[in-house]
Amino acid sequence: MNRAYNFCAGPAALPEPVLMRASEEMMDWQGSGCSVMEMSHRSTEIVAMTEAAEASLRRLMAIPDDYAVIFQQGGASQQFAAVPLNLAHSDDVVAYLNTGQWSKKAIAEAQRFTNVEVVGSSQASNFTEVPKAEEWSLPANTRYLHYCPNETIGGVRFNYIPEAAVPVVADMSSMILSEPIDVPRFGVIYAGAQKNIGPAGLAVIIVKKSLLGSARSDCPAMLDWQKAADNGSMYNTPPTFGIYLAGLVFEWIEAQGGLDAMAVVNRRKAAMLYDLIDTNDFYANPVEVESRSLMNVPFTLADSSLDKAFLADAEAARLLNLKGHRSVGGMRASIYNAVDESAVATLAEFMTDFAKRNG
Ligand SMILES: *Cc1c(COP(=O)(O)O)cnc(C)c1O
Repeated sequence: MNRAYNFCAGPAALPEPVLMRASEEMMDWQGSGCSVMEMSHRSTEIVAMTEAAEASLRRLMAIPDDYAVIFQQGGASQQFAAVPLNLAHSDDVVAYLNTGQWSKKAIAEAQRFTNVEVVGSSQASNFTEVPKAEEWSLPANTRYLHYCPNETIGGVRFNYIPEAAVPVVADMSSMILSEPIDVPRFGVIYAGAQKNIGPAGLAVIIVKKSLLGSARSDCPAMLDWQKAADNGSMYNTPPTFGIYLAGLVFEWIEAQGGLDAMAVVNRRKAAMLYDLIDTNDFYANPVEVESRSLMNVPFTLADSSLDKAFLADAEAARLLNLKGHRSVGGMRASIYNAVDESAVATLAEFMTDFAKRNG
């Protein structure tokens, strides 16, 4: 076996022990004689597996009982529509903070269903910072405030949780489970799975139960959180394999010591790269220091004509998927939970060496 170091932004690296366990269990899951993919979602075993995954996530994030945990299909992008459809009517006003590409997509989708007010934006700085708490305020009669705590493409994170008198809705796709999160400060947390949870296609939604039951009458049944919650995430056939793998990832994180332990390691990993970038003229990162992402580290080379050589040499060294997003160029190293310290150290060594050879 020859596993590479994978810095893909998503679908991202999964923990090796999880992949090994899934491969061991593939042909005969827990003595059932079937793979986990081949069993009825209504069977006792799969219902229990789904409940165990939820229980593990609840322990990890200390999710209070007055919050529902829902597994849905369609990734995070589908939630861009589900959020307004579950929480706002067409003549309501909803507030969004715009801090980059994913905020923009969420805004554009919400605009199809209701009236969006962008109350704060870092567009003017080309999304190299986030709006400070004192720089924005909510209009009256807003149904909710939506923001993206970690912009995966720009590598920008909020270092504060917005305060609002209305429910705060957060797209945590690229930072969920990377650090402890104070769930009671949110009305809704949602995340696509393929960064820190499991395989693509699955979304996890954590929603305060008091917010359920007010979906619009034209909200598709498949997007209605209340229906999902009432049916134990089995309104239709759920992505059982995705839930299975997510459960294994949750178990793995618990075995690592939970989110406090993940946060310590994640801060060390990010510091390794930012320290290198800041002390080596060959590399640069444009993001304001206190808003730098701990999960996605974009960087440019002083001479962009070396980009191709950098990527080719990296690939030869088995360091994969370092090309930046097409909208920003340069490089990006995504260093989610499953990318361990040795992978990041190997990348840092490679970067130092490449700069020496080409600087
Ligand atoms: C990846 C990502 C998405 C999109 O997820 P899909 O599952 O592809 O819909 C949305 N928001 C953020 C912050 C992301 O990182």
